[in-house]
Amino acid sequence: MTTPPRLVMKFGGTSVADMERIRNAAARVKREVEAGYHVAVIVSAMAGETNRLVGYVREAAATPGANSPGFYDAREYDSVVASGEQVTSGLMAIVLQEMGVPARSWAGWQAPVMTTAAHGSARITGIDTTKIVERFGQGMHAVIAGFQGVSPEGRITTLGRGGSDTSAVAFAAALGAERCDIYTDVDGVYTTDPRIERKARKLSRISFEEMLELASLGAKVLQTRSVELAMNHNVKLMVRSSFSDDPGTLVCPEEEIVEKNVVSGIAAERGQAKVTLLKVADRPGVAASIFGPLAEGGVNVDMIVQNISEDGFTDMTFSCAEDDVARAKHLLENAEPKIGYREIVVDDDVAKVSVVGVGMRSHSGVAQTMFSALAVDGVNIKVITTSEIKVSVLISRKYLELAVQSLHAAFGLDKV
Ligand code: ADP
Ligand code: ASP
Ligand code: MG
Repeated sequence: MTTPPRLVMKFGGTSVADMERIRNAAARVKREVEAGYHVAVIVSAMAGETNRLVGYVREAAATPGANSPGFYDAREYDSVVASGEQVTSGLMAIVLQEMGVPARSWAGWQAPVMTTAAHGSARITGIDTTKIVERFGQGMHAVIAGFQGVSPEGRITTLGRGGSDTSAVAFAAALGAERCDIYTDVDGVYTTDPRIERKARKLSRISFEEMLELASLGAKVLQTRSVELAMNHNVKLMVRSSFSDDPGTLVCPEEEIVEKNVVSGIAAERGQAKVTLLKVADRPGVAASIFGPLAEGGVNVDMIVQNISEDGFTDMTFSCAEDDVARAKHLLENAEPKIGYREIVVDDDVAKVSVVGVGMRSHSGVAQTMFSALAVDGVNIKVITTSEIKVSVLISRKYLELAVQSLHAAFGLDKV
């Protein structure tokens, strides 16, 4: 007897936001079961639930005057925030059973999904699918709590916000699934966030590399790590809607895309901050003395600019997530005797807007088109970075929507 093909179906927060939606998602699972698949369903927490749980943790850890802002026991954070997915996995299993589909829930540690001990942003190191496959053999489908795993010490870990996408792709790779379907509240990957630009168009295909850039630059439709995993393990990854049967977007190797644009998409990220150290001595080793402590303290520095030097001094500017600013300031203040600077100036009213496209490799002028479009709208650019297939700018947050919309038009993305 040949074993049935396997399918991974991941449902995001809005797709399991209440019982009616869980039933709707379960009906989709049932359809695939009837088509002959062994299905591994990966669920997120109900929409808004993870934020609510994070809020509790912040409240519990809010010690006024504590000299280490933003620090709390990350193992306990994981224990709290992983609970949202445990609820939806059990509910989904019950609803499937009610519909006549044999199913059981699996928490991350039960499979198990093994991860590093980097609580709050752990990476999956391996998945043991033996028990799940054994159950498949008995006709039992799996509902797996996304976003979570277990550390080498046996503690619950979480994979970073949006991590259920990564759980789904990792299971698809481990199970050798025919496809990994990411069901969400949009029916695919668009040229930009359709909530920001109504004229955004759905892409029938997007390359792994472009999706990777878009995701890491703020398009939260897929978690960055999930795209990386799919690319490395050749997982057939589809983004589609929980609420319609419209065809979704296939994320695939670049060679499988016929129609190529210079720019494929625009990403925007609101929660950024710009930090400047004023009057830093312009000497060898000064950058290391600034960015060393930040890296050790877990602050993810994004863009870096060193301003023009005058009288042996310079200003050093970098950007990071707004949530990391308090920690960055704390680390830099501790390192002040080694660095030597006059003042730290924080601008936490900034956003990052990026244009992405593999066509940039062979076409020049993308940056020029971008800067001109922003200039016409009077949007001042604070910091610029480029890579082979993207150009990013840091701008004032109030211009985010305007910038995305003008760039979308400037690169002809609203036209078919
Ligand atoms: P889920 O809860 O299903 O994981 P997310 O909220 O994490 O869903 O991701 C889906 C959202 O991603 C969409 O509602 C949309 O606003 C946003 N998004 C940002 N950029 C894009 C894009 N380029 N294409 C599609 N959606 C995007
Ligand atoms: N529930 C988690 C979050 O909101 C994981 C996910 O939905 O992918 O980040
Ligand atoms: Mg998500």
